Amino acid sequence: MSGTNSITTEQLRLWDKRHVWHPFTQMQEWERDEQIIIVKGEGCWLIDTDGRRYLDGVASMWTNVHGHCRRELNDALKEQVDRLEHSTLLGLASEQSIILAARLAEITPPGLDRFFYSDNGSTAMEVAVKMAYQYQVHSGRPERSRFITFRHAYHGDTLGAVSVGGIGIYHTTFKPLMFETIQAPAPYCYRCEMGCSRTSCSMECIDALEALMEGNAGLVAGLVIEPLVQGAGGMIVQPAGFLKRVRNLCDRYDILMIVDEVATGFGRTGKMFACNHEGVVPDIMALSKGIAAGYLPLAATVMIDKVYSAFLGSYSELKTFFHGHTFTGNPLACAVALKSLQLFQQDNLLAELQPKIAWLTQRLGDFESMPHVGDVRQCGLAAGIELVENRETGAPYPWELKVGMRVCLEARKRGVFSRPLGNTIVIFPPLVISNSELEILLNVLQESIRVVTE
Ligand SMILES: *Cc1c(COP(=O)(O)O)cnc(C)c1O
Repeated sequence: MSGTNSITTEQLRLWDKRHVWHPFTQMQEWERDEQIIIVKGEGCWLIDTDGRRYLDGVASMWTNVHGHCRRELNDALKEQVDRLEHSTLLGLASEQSIILAARLAEITPPGLDRFFYSDNGSTAMEVAVKMAYQYQVHSGRPERSRFITFRHAYHGDTLGAVSVGGIGIYHTTFKPLMFETIQAPAPYCYRCEMGCSRTSCSMECIDALEALMEGNAGLVAGLVIEPLVQGAGGMIVQPAGFLKRVRNLCDRYDILMIVDEVATGFGRTGKMFACNHEGVVPDIMALSKGIAAGYLPLAATVMIDKVYSAFLGSYSELKTFFHGHTFTGNPLACAVALKSLQLFQQDNLLAELQPKIAWLTQRLGDFESMPHVGDVRQCGLAAGIELVENRETGAPYPWELKVGMRVCLEARKRGVFSRPLGNTIVIFPPLVISNSELEILLNVLQESIRVVTE
């Protein structure tokens, strides 16, 4: 077999259906349907084997920042691959991983300046959870073994990450394999568990959270939260001030605050990190998705010195963190991540983002009056449009109808790739998306919602 160019689309389709198991996918349906095969990327566009172009409305699973095949990033990668493709961090240090940690330390919230590398969001969270518990052990409090989590939370698909998650359809099957957590109500204002509405809310869910902390006093190692917005749960945006109040409660009950910035980190919310909006400094923070601009798998778990220094001692004290991944700190990924940070500055990306966020807010207003739109939620350049069967009662569409997926299939016919969260339509484009591309994205999604629901 020589180059890939000689292989026909038909052959690729056949092999894909015969040999590849796609994630989060009912393969019986996948094998039945005609699938798009992407071969190229250009800016915010993905191009398939037939030369058809699709606007990447979900930034290739929420990772892409500066567009596809951005020249500066490609060059950084090429330059690095000719110097060193990989060497291990077990027993050796490597140049790019050092520089990246030092640069990241300059932009992460104050005090978060020690980086434990891994290669995806789930592992970054596994590390956070294990580290938080071992910290309690080293602090002479091994009975603090529980974790407080939120309903509708998503932290990844490995078993530890699943245990601290709270999405029924993904997580229930694995219940016998999971550890138990203390689950707090999600700040899901559209479907408030406390029976409040946005206008009557005084964050009763925070009182419920405090009651759980009180009831489990002295038994909790850490609290795990997606800051500002629960992503995979349906782009569920928290009321302003919620994160800060969670921080205050963690302080009061001496609980480590673990913040999962895997989806929100690197500009998505309009600031570099979601925590920045409320001046929150977590004890541990997980980073991945956008860290290497959507180019390569890379993740980091960042912690304050109090956590790090609890692990210091002679080898025989057995305080070592016995955890690590083979491709930890990969130089190619780190080199791209470094260049990505440079591009944030060079392009003045965060400032450029603000008018786009404002325009998105305004344009989303047009969706609110649609007959099957129940709720519209936005946080920075991320948004969710929750479709419902009955707007008056908020009754959801039966999940088996796959209304969200059908909307995305309509969008695909119109040259936009999107992927829903249940019946919530997701808007999560590369941060460099232009105004005109953003307009295409919103127009196509609106038309597709109309076609499917009206
Ligand atoms: C995507 C995601 C993860 C998991 O990351 P993977 O790289 O898919 O393992 C964890 N937390 C949040 C908030 C995410 O959005």
